Amino acid sequence: MNKTLIRNANILAVDAAHGTKPFSGDLLVEGGLIAAIGPDLAPPDGARIIDGRDRLIMPGLVNAHTHSSETFFRGRYEGMPLEIWLLYAYPLLMNDPIGKRLLYLRSLLLAMESLRNGVTTLCDDFFDPPRHNLDRLGTVFRAYDDAGIRANVSSAAMNIHTLDALPFARDVMSAGLQSLLDFGPPMKAEAYVDFCKSAFDNLHGRAGRVNFMIAPSAPQRCTPDLMMACMELAMEKHVPFHTHVLETRTQAITGHELHGKSLIAYMRDLGLLRRNTTIAHSVWVSDDDMLLMGEAGVSVAHNAISNLKLGAGIAPVRRLMDAGVTLGLGTDGVSSNDTARIFDVMRVAGLIHSVSGPDYGKWVTADEILRMATIGGAKTAMLEHVTGSLEIGKSADLMILNLRSYPFLPFNDAAKHLVYSENGSSIEKVMVAGRIVMEDGRLTTVDEAAVFAELAELVPAWLEEHAELERRNGIFAPAMAEIHRRATLAELPLYRYQGDLPFLG
Ligand SMILES: [Zn+2]
Repeated sequence: MNKTLIRNANILAVDAAHGTKPFSGDLLVEGGLIAAIGPDLAPPDGARIIDGRDRLIMPGLVNAHTHSSETFFRGRYEGMPLEIWLLYAYPLLMNDPIGKRLLYLRSLLLAMESLRNGVTTLCDDFFDPPRHNLDRLGTVFRAYDDAGIRANVSSAAMNIHTLDALPFARDVMSAGLQSLLDFGPPMKAEAYVDFCKSAFDNLHGRAGRVNFMIAPSAPQRCTPDLMMACMELAMEKHVPFHTHVLETRTQAITGHELHGKSLIAYMRDLGLLRRNTTIAHSVWVSDDDMLLMGEAGVSVAHNAISNLKLGAGIAPVRRLMDAGVTLGLGTDGVSSNDTARIFDVMRVAGLIHSVSGPDYGKWVTADEILRMATIGGAKTAMLEHVTGSLEIGKSADLMILNLRSYPFLPFNDAAKHLVYSENGSSIEKVMVAGRIVMEDGRLTTVDEAAVFAELAELVPAWLEEHAELERRNGIFAPAMAEIHRRATLAELPLYRYQGDLPFLG
């Protein structure tokens, strides 16, 4: 059995007893699990000994929301709100699906960047239109298995026509343009549920750490029967019902336009607010929405950087926490964030809520951000019994940081260093399920140079094809801009969103 003893380290456990305050001691890993934590642990026979002096051991970070489909789009876009950016990152008119080798490398690259930066669990809301294919989904599972990361992976679903999921779309778009978007009958709920069941049977639990989660894309993009069937299966399988809600002002208008109520109230009425519910974004929620979310015990993946890049707004994190909502941190895809680094999201989320109002007693603290990035994120992934803190019996998902480094010298308070100073540069080792996946500045599971070389060879041609696709989809941009404009001007009826910044109110 694989055994590792880390001695004389500063242990930041994020457990009930110590929270985010480090204590000194040893940590023993056996068979992939944390077997013991305490002073002067005796090294078992055959154990690898790691000197923990001047080192901090902490739980691996959880990326609570991302999309591997965007991995090749870093550094490609700017200056576009969601509704317009979607046209290019998720084109309405599509080419053939990305080839299987690039599909594999795309997920592998996301996992590689994540691991190097201390992310040991990622939640990939995998988007692979136009259909759900077990072989292709299995390719993504294989990439995460090979990289050595823990992951929840979906096959994101939608079955409502794009133009019926957007307010004003049928009015602003010409009949000619609309006719280009007729892709035939939408997927039936039963078909998606059957697909999910086969994913559970064939892929779920791969290597003991790559799981399937259920992800209807958004309440305005899925029929009620699809979403309710998804929730039923998510509860049966104890996995997240992972969805996008109220990211933009346009989406805040959508609920009222389509249903005469907010999308959160709509979800409540359908029985879709549960412990299993993980909501990406939650920017444009009202106080009434937050009350419903807190009562139901839902989780939110807070994508602070993505929400800034797409001009979506700032999620009311303090009020969500006050309402009883569990918070995790997500990068969102590498197109709307440009990196897979949760340390960046921690820093931005740690800073941005200080402009939420003059009552500085309510500003979000480094301690709270650190919990979101670890145990909070694990809860959003429904993996809090497995990862997110250093506790006996949990999986050894952790990283070792060098405290003799710029982000930590001179040493003051660990949580504040980790949120405001660290950017991943102090990470020396990363472990997932007891296996060291990164040390001495390189990944142990993947030949990074070979992957980079293959990406350099294969991706440019694919991006050229994508550029042509962007050009073709550009014909919809004026209509999307008009939808965005109308949504900006529209009144929000019965809406009490105050905005966390005055100009968003
Ligand atoms: Zn997303």
